[in-house]
Amino acid sequence: MNTSNSIIQEIRFPISENESFCFEVKRDDLIDPIVSGNKWRKLEYNLLKVEELNKTGIITFGGAFSNHLVATAKAAQLGGVPSVGVVRGDELTSDSNPTLKACTNYGMELVFVSRAAYSGQCESTYMNDLLMRFPGHYIVPEGGKNYYGMIGCQHILKETDNDYDHVYLAGGTGTTGAGVLVSSKGKTKVHVISSLKGDFLYKDIQEMLILALFDEEIVGDFMERLEVVSDNYFGGYGKVNEELITFINDVFHQTHLKLDPIYTSKAFFNMISDYKSGKIKSTDKVLFIHTGGLQGAEVWKGKIDWV
Ligand SMILES: *Cc1c(COP(=O)(O)O)cnc(C)c1O
Repeated sequence: MNTSNSIIQEIRFPISENESFCFEVKRDDLIDPIVSGNKWRKLEYNLLKVEELNKTGIITFGGAFSNHLVATAKAAQLGGVPSVGVVRGDELTSDSNPTLKACTNYGMELVFVSRAAYSGQCESTYMNDLLMRFPGHYIVPEGGKNYYGMIGCQHILKETDNDYDHVYLAGGTGTTGAGVLVSSKGKTKVHVISSLKGDFLYKDIQEMLILALFDEEIVGDFMERLEVVSDNYFGGYGKVNEELITFINDVFHQTHLKLDPIYTSKAFFNMISDYKSGKIKSTDKVLFIHTGGLQGAEVWKGKIDWV
């Protein structure tokens, strides 16, 4: 996958009649419609590992609408690697929704498991059973959350000026936030807006940094420049209300940016709020990382104007 499509775009967002907020957007959503945004960043080194270790295929995990699952399916197919997707929910089938249909079309073998079995995915017996069924496969954790996922995300800022006062991005597992944070420099404040319920993200990112950097003092310096927002805007993960749809449509009409209802819209909303509240100064240099997530949007047809 070539990341040269991921341009940096300058946006002038109207705040009031005589005031606009100017910032840059790193358009990782343009890398590919399916292997999009941070999903390619997290897969790049994992797929190289599959080749290097001569693995026979790749296994990964996700929910019914998982951007990570379908990105893995397409990236694996392009790399000529068989893929297996373990899906949370044994009531589902490969026909249940456009995301799962696309996974199947990209040649991914789907295995549907109950939520109870899925929550055991970290247990070694569960992994051993999977590897008995799919011998020689390389396992990528849910959301691409591993060391290789994190170092792939370090490329994002390296393709920019990397001298921002503020960087905003959406978070799920925090892997992208961790990669962005360790590759950021000097004064940059990194804001990760969690799409999930709960306050675990700050700690999770801290743990990833400790594992990667070994040194708690160095990690502490990075953590001082991290802000994790877990405000659960618009009702929390997967919740989409009229107000959010209106916001997504407003942003689209004003900037032509397409934001998804789960991740990027909530991060964008937080950034605009920070500008309005004065947390971002008008002289600050600001970057929004568009992490993609636009696949599977057919389900929003008739509501979201860009679909
Ligand atoms: C998966 C996803 C995220 C979350 O990335 P993490 O590395 O898990 O924090 C953010 N934005 C979009 C659009 C995504 O698809």
